[in-house]
Amino acid sequence: MSRWELLLAVQEHDTQADQLRHRSATLPVRAEITRVEEDLRVFDQRLAEVDARAGELARSQKRLEDEIASLNGRAEQAEKQLYSGSVTNPRELQALQDDVASIRRRISHLEDEQLEIMELADPVEADRDELLAARAERVAELDRLRSELSAAEAEIEEELAQVARSRAEAAAAVPDDLWPEYDRLRRTRGGVAIARLVGSTCQGCHLTLSAVELDRIRKLPLDEPVHCEECGRLLVRD
Ligand SMILES: [Zn+2]
Repeated sequence: MSRWELLLAVQEHDTQADQLRHRSATLPVRAEITRVEEDLRVFDQRLAEVDARAGELARSQKRLEDEIASLNGRAEQAEKQLYSGSVTNPRELQALQDDVASIRRRISHLEDEQLEIMELADPVEADRDELLAARAERVAELDRLRSELSAAEAEIEEELAQVARSRAEAAAAVPDDLWPEYDRLRRTRGGVAIARLVGSTCQGCHLTLSAVELDRIRKLPLDEPVHCEECGRLLVRD
């Protein structure tokens, strides 16, 4: 077997490993995961908006509660004074009565406002529940997709490990002086450093070598390095 055949065997394992890594990088489940993650970001944004609205309504509700509590306190105090008998002046009594009536009216008005806010809060709460349920579904889907990805990755990793073992065996037979050029061509020729010459066609670039070049190559000793005149890759001759 020529030294180039030995190097080509390594190339085949490297190409196989490249294909496996490409397969891993382009697994369709990755795109699905990205899509669901994007959905989740949208849900989180909408939830933040709904939470902000709910918080606003809750603060308004609290303000009304506090104001009603304070007004109730004032009304009770005024009523206590009114029925204590300590105020006897009719004009003062009338003023106190008016005061109590005015506070009670104000409270009733604030209670109406409270009801309005409760009515506004109901659909916000319903939106929130709906969003949370839909989000939970997406989270479950994401978990499922991530498990699917892990399984696929593990499978490819296993294949890669097998390829690496075979590659190591093949590489052990390759003379050391061939590596620098092989590595350089691998880097600069899309991962393919060496290809077979079949008839007049380079299997690296699938272009045909000129008759003159073929003639020149045929006369060279088999161990002599030969490069494709089109793509520059090493050629393996039969
Ligand atoms: Zn070529």
